[in-house]
Amino acid sequence: MLLTNNLGYPRVGAFRELKKANEAYWAKKSSVEELLDTAKKIREGNWKTQKDAGIDLIPSNDFSFYDQVLDLTLTVGAIPARYHSLLNKVDNNYSLDLYFAMARGFQQEGIDVTAMEMTKWLDTNYHYMVPEFTKDQEFKLTSEKFLNEYNEAKSLGIETKPVLLGPITYLLIGKEKEAGFDRIDLLDKLVPVYEQILAKLAEAGAQYVQIDEPFLALDLDEKVKALYQPTFEKLAAAAKNIKLIATTYFEALKDNEDIAVNLPIHALHLDLVRGENQLDTVLAKVPASLTLSLGIVEGRNIWKNDYEKSLVKIKQAVDALGKDRVWVAPSSSLLHVPFDLDNEHNEQSLPAEVKNWLAFAKQKLAEVKDLAILADGEVDAETTKRFEANKAAAESRRTSPLIHKPEVKTRTSNITDDDAKRTSVFADRKAAQQAKFNLPAFPTTTIGSFPQTKDVRKWRADLKKGAITQEEYDKAIAEETENTIRLQEQLDIDVLVHGEFERNDMVEYFGEQLAGYAFTQNGWVQSYGSRCVKPPIIYGDVYRPQDMTVRWSSYAQSLTNRPVKGMLTGPVTILQWSFVRNDQPRSTTTYQIALAILDEVQALEKAGIKIIQIDEPAIREGLPLRKADQKDYLNWAVRAFRVSSSNVEDDTQIHTHMCYSEFNNVIEDIAAMDADVITIETSRSQMKLLNAFAGDFKYPNDIGPGVYDIHSPRVPSKDEMVDLLRKAKAVVPAEQLWVNPDCGLKTRAWPETKAALESMVDAAKILRAE
Ligand code: GLN
Ligand code: ZN
Repeated sequence: MLLTNNLGYPRVGAFRELKKANEAYWAKKSSVEELLDTAKKIREGNWKTQKDAGIDLIPSNDFSFYDQVLDLTLTVGAIPARYHSLLNKVDNNYSLDLYFAMARGFQQEGIDVTAMEMTKWLDTNYHYMVPEFTKDQEFKLTSEKFLNEYNEAKSLGIETKPVLLGPITYLLIGKEKEAGFDRIDLLDKLVPVYEQILAKLAEAGAQYVQIDEPFLALDLDEKVKALYQPTFEKLAAAAKNIKLIATTYFEALKDNEDIAVNLPIHALHLDLVRGENQLDTVLAKVPASLTLSLGIVEGRNIWKNDYEKSLVKIKQAVDALGKDRVWVAPSSSLLHVPFDLDNEHNEQSLPAEVKNWLAFAKQKLAEVKDLAILADGEVDAETTKRFEANKAAAESRRTSPLIHKPEVKTRTSNITDDDAKRTSVFADRKAAQQAKFNLPAFPTTTIGSFPQTKDVRKWRADLKKGAITQEEYDKAIAEETENTIRLQEQLDIDVLVHGEFERNDMVEYFGEQLAGYAFTQNGWVQSYGSRCVKPPIIYGDVYRPQDMTVRWSSYAQSLTNRPVKGMLTGPVTILQWSFVRNDQPRSTTTYQIALAILDEVQALEKAGIKIIQIDEPAIREGLPLRKADQKDYLNWAVRAFRVSSSNVEDDTQIHTHMCYSEFNNVIEDIAAMDADVITIETSRSQMKLLNAFAGDFKYPNDIGPGVYDIHSPRVPSKDEMVDLLRKAKAVVPAEQLWVNPDCGLKTRAWPETKAALESMVDAAKILRAE
């Protein structure tokens, strides 16, 4: 019988129980016992769910109060010095308070320490706490979470497979906090802690341990490549009778195949969703001692598995290796998908037909088990029935008129290079736009949203509940919009915005109005710590049945003589922040969205909105993990943006906005988007990010480098902003500069917003006078 292997399970709880328990504890509204109890129930529930689903290798130590990388940082004692003073100060709730201080910062009792930095986990939307290393970094076994959780499961009668992030990946995802050393050279000091961990687990009776080394599927330099074999030799020696599993995911092994298959391990896990074609080459190399864990059920997306297709691969592996040496598994940890499809009951936002194409974490466990039974060959009646249902669902997805709209497909495949190009070059457009808008030097604007106060959110919730009528809601939004227009006039801002009060979220708002989209009620996925997101689902060909933003933009424009910017989310960002269909290339889906956005751009233009911003904050996060694939992605991502923004008149001014972006290495691609104006986040780096725009390659169009950080309630002084603008002027010609905040203002309160914008406009006026 083929064994079933699971790599990790979502831990926020089906209804975000952990989020709520964490937040109550942080707010001192509940005790540590209550928090520990919630956590324990979640772990127990998860283990039982997996056991009931027939999973043989059930993970432990995949639970985390905040982040599994931070757990490891605590386990190996890589606690940055700034937290050392806390070691005795925080009441030592099982070291939880220290842990949360590292995650969230600590401001109490005269102590003020910042949180550790957070960044995206590989190419996912999950954020981990970045390990910090110093030259004299020491490591020391500091927490036995891995052991406690193993024993906890055991006491429930469940044998688990502890999961550890591997030492090489752990060092590589971290950061040197001082110059003069290479963090990978800390490996010799780190591995002994792993040896201790493995020795303890061996003593406790663990049979398997999973070591995650996703970097084995990434571009590695020769130095790192050479470290894998000796490192795993040490781990294997310490592990004694434990069977080690090395897991890779999100990419194919490619040039690291030989290293991976020859490690002294019991099993190697492959991602056969992202690395569909690696099975052939790996099978040809696998030594007789190695078992393969086939990551065949997608761990990062919400589609039902196609059993027929998967069985071909599994059988290919079984033919080569025998049933004993093949495991069936999800492609990655299930952390990246929602908990349970059975909790979705809203036919309106998730029609039954669409629901039948989906599988969340719990359903994926059942798929793994089904596939193992089907590949094994001794198939019971129930499994046969599920196989038939699976085939029917796959067939319905291939042919459903809900998904397939021939007009959309034709229009998308007929996109020409002309559709992706403005009629005139930037200089000519700039002249036409200047003639039309007659803006001063250093024109001022904002990024779009204004404070989403409690009231604004309450109106939306009340409308949803039916507590207020559509008319009442519209009236409230109209008033808020009008007040915001008046305020911007008073502040003497040059290009106004309507404030985005009608929007819940910059992707969901558009998804709700586009055809081809579905929504969940409980489809939460952890983004960081207690923060979860509920990505909408693109299931079908996307188009725009009706105007999406024209109403509020034209209303706002009707109130003022100053130009009001139309405000849209770009095709790549809409794609990145949604669950995306897997039955056509991502680029095709993006082009469909781009055409829908273009339709909206043209509708705005027709309604007299002549400045239109298309936000693309996520364009860089779509970059493939392997360098060799990046250029292709950038080409279609940039082209999709151009499709959404090019078919307009010369005197229509297209803006784009990007925050949290690193522009090095991609600046020419960003320039190729050819937006007339780009606004970016720069204030926190003191305009250093702007250097990317003025290196060997000079960014040709207009730029609005953010002059103040909107992430903090702090009101910057006029002088600080003048100072930043002078810095900007030193690298970018003054004629190219706009003045604006770093990002939208929706998380801010009104008083600080007014005060900061007032200073911002003053700062622009000072620069104009210079
Ligand atoms: N227009 C959006 C806003 O102002 C942009 C948000 C973003 O870049 N993340 O809120
Ligand atoms: Zn932004």
